[in-house]
Amino acid sequence: MTTDVHPNANEAEAAAGADQSAAKTQSFEADVARLLQLMVHSVYSDRDIFVRELVSNAADACEKLRYESLARPDLSEGGAPFAITIAVDPDAKTLTFSDNGVGMSRGDLAEGLGTIAKSGTRAFLDRLSAAESEKEGANLIGQFGIGFYSAFMVADQVVVETRRAGSNEAWRWSSDGKGAYTIAPLSLEAAPQRGSKVVLHLNDSSHEYAEAYRLERIVREHSGAVAVPIDLIEKPGAEPRRIADGAALWAKSKSEVKPEEYAEFYRGLSGQFDEPALTIHYRAEGRHEYTVLAFVPGSRPFDLFDPARKGRNKLYVRRVLISQDTEVLPGWLRFVRLVVDSADLPLNVSREMIQESPVFAAIKKGVANRIVQELTKLADSQEDGDKEKFAKIWENFGAVIKEGLYEDPERRDALFKLARFATSTHPKVERTLADYVKDLRENQTAIFYLTGDDSKRLETSPQLEGFRARGVEVLLLSDPVDAFWVSTAAGYEGKPFKSVTQGAADIKTIPLVEGAKSTAGEAPSAEVATLFAFFKQTLGEEIGEVRASDRLTDSLACLVAPEFGPDRQLEKMLAAHGRLGTRAKPILEVNAGHPLVVSLAKRYKEQSDKSLIEDAAWLVFDEARLMEGETPVDAQAFAGRLRRLMEKALA
Ligand code: ADP
Ligand code: MG
Repeated sequence: MTTDVHPNANEAEAAAGADQSAAKTQSFEADVARLLQLMVHSVYSDRDIFVRELVSNAADACEKLRYESLARPDLSEGGAPFAITIAVDPDAKTLTFSDNGVGMSRGDLAEGLGTIAKSGTRAFLDRLSAAESEKEGANLIGQFGIGFYSAFMVADQVVVETRRAGSNEAWRWSSDGKGAYTIAPLSLEAAPQRGSKVVLHLNDSSHEYAEAYRLERIVREHSGAVAVPIDLIEKPGAEPRRIADGAALWAKSKSEVKPEEYAEFYRGLSGQFDEPALTIHYRAEGRHEYTVLAFVPGSRPFDLFDPARKGRNKLYVRRVLISQDTEVLPGWLRFVRLVVDSADLPLNVSREMIQESPVFAAIKKGVANRIVQELTKLADSQEDGDKEKFAKIWENFGAVIKEGLYEDPERRDALFKLARFATSTHPKVERTLADYVKDLRENQTAIFYLTGDDSKRLETSPQLEGFRARGVEVLLLSDPVDAFWVSTAAGYEGKPFKSVTQGAADIKTIPLVEGAKSTAGEAPSAEVATLFAFFKQTLGEEIGEVRASDRLTDSLACLVAPEFGPDRQLEKMLAAHGRLGTRAKPILEVNAGHPLVVSLAKRYKEQSDKSLIEDAAWLVFDEARLMEGETPVDAQAFAGRLRRLMEKALA
């Protein structure tokens, strides 16, 4: 950190007649410097975006003061109504964004415009460096709220003059964006009464932004739906002209709003640059009155699974922004972006009190219900295109929505109607539980599922063989949340969920499909039963028991979990999170009709040297582990056994 006096700051102070010793030049926080470097030189190609960022900061500042004035009306008394003014000077090649919002104190300046005070910045920078396309990089910028620095894409000098509402100090911040900034006091005569003025000295390659018509087009395109009016001054001395009315978009009726306006509003709200996949706009009347404008994003925000991620929901009370971080939606709807404007909450409600308010609780419930209802409508729609629309939403957010299946038991049935699955008979993610139940096989009483973390491995799992031979459909569940909800949900339409890797499969009574063979499931011969007893004796404490399998047709063996307790996948996940004391011993199920098993049984009976059979027992067990993506119990012993067997067969 340096504290020498910046030449520009000197001039400013001389002009302002302020105390020179108070001017301080400071280095940007390392992250900011790196960010500026990245942004200016590589990633951010859509430079128009700086307008949106500066307008949105100005609007935020107005909304903040509107809120603070609820408790302290003196803060905004006597001033002009909230507005943003953009002034163009085509000759001087400057652009000025002024607002009469909350302004910044010295501390606010150093923090807001000198550091990145947000969590996840490190992750952001890593992502930004790794961003494959420029579009992806641009997409990230809005999501992290580092918008102010985008000014340096078009300016080689940025000056901010600002006065915190209610304060009798004003400040001038300036920087060339190359590593340091200067903050100096500003005389009150030179300062705005309240709010901020951001002056951009356009760089040589950005002079086109000093053309008023161009700026007007960008503002209309990117900021038309901002909740504060915007005026444009085309050249020094010209009268301000209103180019955006500041009417809250959500307060308009649906028929007045064009799809592009919704899309642009969504972009401002979410910081994403795509199209919304679903727009929900309605006014609730009756016991509580409120307006909702909600969007399901068209693509996945990168931090969807970050537990620290905050929803981007704006809560207004009669057009006053009360809070941006009050959770309106349950966690499993955290991908939805929305504005709620309530007519019933008291304006002076403190942010802390909101969560306790019964009105707010009713709003929360109503909004979540409506979103589920709209999603269901889309999912059930017969109209062209809706099916794909919903499929896309499910692809992006299905894994999150499914969290609701165990977090929100009350809505479980509604969510079951939305859920789409890949199954052993329909590998595309499109089957509903209703489809599944409609196609149950004769004597089938359960909904079978297989969980794992790799959808490809699930499809080829040996555990499915016996189900395939009987034409029984199995849900293939590969999202981490799946292992949890299936184990807590009681069932669907009276059919319990049953893991195919747990307990007895109980599918013997379901008829085989034509042409399928399955010797498995028949009671093992006495010879084979003796062999299994030897297997158990050999493998000892590694397994609970060895038994004949009725789920295998071609494979030799597989592992299953005992009837009660977690299934294999859930157990693995609990263990990985240290939430499981001891793992249950798996059951080794062996295909009793497999030719290899039959001949092993025969050998066991005839040979007095059992060492080779012992090796075989371990190899069968380790192979079953390998098929599940685990490693052999003892890699060295495994290699030894394999080698001995190869020597026997090949040497
Ligand atoms: P974000 O808006 O997401 O917080 P920005 O980089 O756009 O990130 O702005 C950083 C911070 O600087 C803001 O949070 C705000 O505190 C402050 N700031 C920027 N512009 C203004 C302004 N016009 N009025 C008041 N504060 C501002
Ligand atoms: Mg901003």
